[in-house]
Amino acid sequence: MAAQILDGKSLAASIRAALKERVAALVQRGVKPGLAVVLAGDDPASRVYVRNKRLAATETGVHSELIELPGTIGQRELRERIEGLNANRAIHGILVQLPLPKPIDAAAVLEAIAPAKDVDGFHEINMGALFAGRPAVVPCTPAGVMRLMEQARIPLAGRHAVVIGRSNIVGKPVAQLLLQKDATVTICHSKSSDLSELTRRADVLIAAVGRPKLVRQDMVKPGACVIDVGVNRLEDGKLAGDVDFQAVKEVAGWITPVPGGVGPMTIAMLLENCIRAASRELEPKPAG
Ligand code: NAP
Repeated sequence: MAAQILDGKSLAASIRAALKERVAALVQRGVKPGLAVVLAGDDPASRVYVRNKRLAATETGVHSELIELPGTIGQRELRERIEGLNANRAIHGILVQLPLPKPIDAAAVLEAIAPAKDVDGFHEINMGALFAGRPAVVPCTPAGVMRLMEQARIPLAGRHAVVIGRSNIVGKPVAQLLLQKDATVTICHSKSSDLSELTRRADVLIAAVGRPKLVRQDMVKPGACVIDVGVNRLEDGKLAGDVDFQAVKEVAGWITPVPGGVGPMTIAMLLENCIRAASRELEPKPAG
């Protein structure tokens, strides 16, 4: 039987609708959530991602500001711009669109973001909290992956989850979240030997690599849940994930499409992180 399609597009739309109500309630209490998006350079794909994120923010009632900077910007100037946003009370979330132009040390730039405004969850303090089992701000794509599986009631406790990819943005944090749901987790990467042998043992398979059709039908255990994080632009201009969707959907139990799977969930989680950051303004401040 063909797999159940995990429809990230419609789940993300319903999340955004609920967030819109939360924003309206916050505005009534005098807080308008604000998101700053920093775009350095003119990478065309980054431009599209930024446009989609800002569009979703505006539709949800979140104030969004685009800080467009030349690709030639220096490290120090970029840090100063971020420090300005840290101090800006109208901004609750700061997103630096990656990749940054070549000579810039992206890790150092991300560390300049105030952890409370780090809506991407990439700051070492937020990463550390996640890995210590006390998640504060969870990176958007891993959060979106988990929400999709939660909605579909995919069993995780005691199951074997295999994550292909070990980036700080997707692979490592998603593995950590799976572990927190009591899955037994294997993380694979470019040096893993016999990838197929590992993936065939997965009840849950997450592909976050950036290679079209890396995951073939014979690499998937029948009935497994297959989550495709990859976004690849094919020669014909179409988008594809890392999974051979047409073939794998014939054996998997659940599968995400690309586009329309994880991508829209990432944006919904970004807005959720930003709105949560804005809500903290209304929380009582600790005494002292
Ligand atoms: P990345 O930083 O380039 O990491 C890719 C990972 O894949 C690395 O850990 C790499 O291993 C591993 N890898 C490469 N070739 C492999 C192979 N043949 N077999 C097994 N593992 C292999 O990428 P990323 O930022 O994590 O993103 C991964 C994909 O997700 C990309 O397509 C990206 O566009 C997409 N993405 C989508 C969303 C979304 O919202 N849908 C968000 C973020 C990213 P090594 O560590 O050994 O090099």
